[in-house]
Amino acid sequence: MKSPNGNPIIPADHPRAESLHYRHLLVDAMHKKIVTPSGLCAHGRGEAFDYLIGEQTISPAEKSIQAAVATLIKAKHPVISVNGNVAALVGKELVELSQLLNIPLEINIFYQAEGRIEAITELLRDFGAKNLLGIGDFTPKQLSKLSSNRRIVDPRGIYQADVVVVPLEDGDRTEALIAAGKFVIAIDLNPLSRTAQQAHITIVDNIIRVIPKMVEIGKILQNATDKELNQIASEFDQSQNLKQSLEYIIKYLKTQIK
Ligand code: ATP
Repeated sequence: MKSPNGNPIIPADHPRAESLHYRHLLVDAMHKKIVTPSGLCAHGRGEAFDYLIGEQTISPAEKSIQAAVATLIKAKHPVISVNGNVAALVGKELVELSQLLNIPLEINIFYQAEGRIEAITELLRDFGAKNLLGIGDFTPKQLSKLSSNRRIVDPRGIYQADVVVVPLEDGDRTEALIAAGKFVIAIDLNPLSRTAQQAHITIVDNIIRVIPKMVEIGKILQNATDKELNQIASEFDQSQNLKQSLEYIIKYLKTQIK
């Protein structure tokens, strides 16, 4: 049996129902030009790493989410970079986070097929996005040390930002953002990726779980004092975070050896 969009209906008791749901969502988004075929491969890489942490938010990620939200609240010009996968997977929750903490969303994509930016814009606007950057008429600025078209950034957004959230990012762009002096917060299930290794704060978790948690924590930390926010941010240790994430994976895998 097929659903109205042509995908087979997923039985509710299917052991991988959630994973199949997100796969179908991405395939639908690909037909609408929001996601590219290469985005499907990137998702597969992410899913593989999700197995290694038991498909749950692990304690190092909880701490990095707290530090990320505190840093975003303290920032002067925070921006969240959005690509096709991110818009398709968590567009609604991202718009909620953007509005809650007053952080603009900047659309920045690698594959600029005709109509793609428009499709992502429409999706985010349908979720209520108002503060969208990287679209419309603006005089583009460029990130140096990057040759792909992702070097083009919005002067009102990433170009002037002090803190940039880069979910599901490739290492080259993360490197370029860091070289441009940005404080980079990454969301990446692979603690060994170049992005995860180079960012200032890496949240090693599935973006599907991360953004709703950021909204939850944002609602709490919104009322925190500067002193409390500074303390959360300064207590965070990125090298310990990456080390503990890898240690978690090693321990978790050992529990799986029967
Ligand atoms: P790098 O260049 O940083 O070494 P990469 O070449 O793997 O990494 P991409 O494939 O462009 O980079 O980016 C995809 C990254 O996003 C991968 O590291 C992948 O693990 C991660 N990823 C994919 N889907 C998710 C998801 N749902 N949640 C969190 N991370 C994800």
